[in-house]
Amino acid sequence: MVRGPPFPGHFLKVLPAPGASGGGTLAPMSDTGPFQRLYRVQQLDLDLDRLRAEEASIPEPLREARAGQERLNNELEDTEITLEGVEKRIRQLEQDLAGTRDQMARAREEQDKNAFDARTQSQYGSRIQMLGERAEEMEEDLAPLRERARDLGNRAAELRAEHRALRPRLAELEAQDEARVGGLRDQGAGMREERATLVASLDSRTVKEYDLIRRAKKGLGLAEIQGGRCTGCNVNLPVNVQQRAAQGKLPPVKCPSCGRFLIKLG
Ligand SMILES: [Zn+2]
Repeated sequence: MVRGPPFPGHFLKVLPAPGASGGGTLAPMSDTGPFQRLYRVQQLDLDLDRLRAEEASIPEPLREARAGQERLNNELEDTEITLEGVEKRIRQLEQDLAGTRDQMARAREEQDKNAFDARTQSQYGSRIQMLGERAEEMEEDLAPLRERARDLGNRAAELRAEHRALRPRLAELEAQDEARVGGLRDQGAGMREERATLVASLDSRTVKEYDLIRRAKKGLGLAEIQGGRCTGCNVNLPVNVQQRAAQGKLPPVKCPSCGRFLIKLG
């Protein structure tokens, strides 16, 4: 890759190995014309686009592990909120039950105090019976609630255990992904460096316009002429446009159909 470019087009199509870019490819590049350099800028831009897309695409195992953890978190949260509600109702009922039992105890004391008054005795008797029935109802309500609280508690413990079990695998996958993204960024750093050097050697207005076209076209700002056609939009180019493009003068000729800069390589 350090030799000069006898066939610039051919040379430019060869991508440097990741991390091997820089000085070796830059020296011959600066000998080429502005169009070849702009073409190389575009290759780097496309590679940087690809790196960004690759960085954003999360590997399936990590995606699944993250989703699994989130599912567990959500279910655990739901379970804990439900359990809290059930426990609150249990506490309320237990309080009411204790109050009812106190009332019963006091009613029994009063009944004992009036042991010789038959009418009062029977009044307290029916009050005690009523309170007893109410207490019984509360106990009946409490039993399924306690069972439900126990089930929810068990489920929460299960979910916490599953979450704990998933953690080392997820940490491993996250570390792998960090390394993957780091590698991609290192590759990108070399490309950005090469791009900056190339751009510094080019007419800034041409570069700015290329950037604008590329952004508007979501990909290519510069299209090669092949077989008399614009490779950007495949239109057949008028001969005078082809001739002007072949002269390789700035500002670059634009495709009359898609508006991209046209370049004739090799
Ligand atoms: Zn075109």
